[in-house]
Amino acid sequence: MRSNADLERFAYSCSHDLQEPVRMVLSFSELLQQRIGSTLDESSSKYLGYILRGASSAKQLIQDMLAYSRLDQSTMNREWVTIGELCQKVEAATVVSREECRGEFHWSSGDLKLHVVTSQVVQLLTNLIANGLKYNKSEVPVVSLSVTLEDSSWLICVADNGIGIDSRYKQQIFTMFSRLVSKGEYEGSGIGLAICQKIAERHGGSIWVESELGRGSQFYVRLSQ
Ligand code: ADP
Repeated sequence: MRSNADLERFAYSCSHDLQEPVRMVLSFSELLQQRIGSTLDESSSKYLGYILRGASSAKQLIQDMLAYSRLDQSTMNREWVTIGELCQKVEAATVVSREECRGEFHWSSGDLKLHVVTSQVVQLLTNLIANGLKYNKSEVPVVSLSVTLEDSSWLICVADNGIGIDSRYKQQIFTMFSRLVSKGEYEGSGIGLAICQKIAERHGGSIWVESELGRGSQFYVRLSQ
């Protein structure tokens, strides 16, 4: 039987090798659209649209799988960083998502210091905040981050006013490829929360969600010191 490490290496090399062919399909179909897009009849233009959408979602999937696999190879270089510094990076990474939905991201306890792998925690928070804005039908989507210091860990809460999650699925959503919505309704690969879980666990911590359908969600992340 293959070991987990073998399977992870296999997933990594598949995703890595798929990058180039997918990049080719995407860039040549974009070129076709620019060159002959306006001359195509209705069905041909629809088919080209399917190719473009399919290739760009394959590209996203591959990037997410690579990000997941790379976490295993990365070293845990922890450093002291403030919540303010982390949140400024997250703000920069979510500019487009916030503009698209006219959403807001609020945070507090900016001076509190955490001892973490900065790039990983930025990735974790960016995924949670982007989800809070995406799975949201409020007139003004709002995601708020707060942090409390416990005995030997930090507890981060990311709360949104979004569509909420049926409590039956609150563990399942952290499994790779698990999605509660359709691709037509919300774009996504189902890997984001699996990445968040892996990052929390690599920091000796955990992640969970409290939520009710239609009443927003609160994601909690515990990171040990
Ligand atoms: P993706 O967003 O690419 O689908 P994730 O792993 O980030 O993948 O999320 C898995 C699923 O969990 C989503 O498809 C969605 O159904 C649900 N989900 C995640 N975050 C939220 C949220 N803040 N509010 C409601 N549902 C969410």
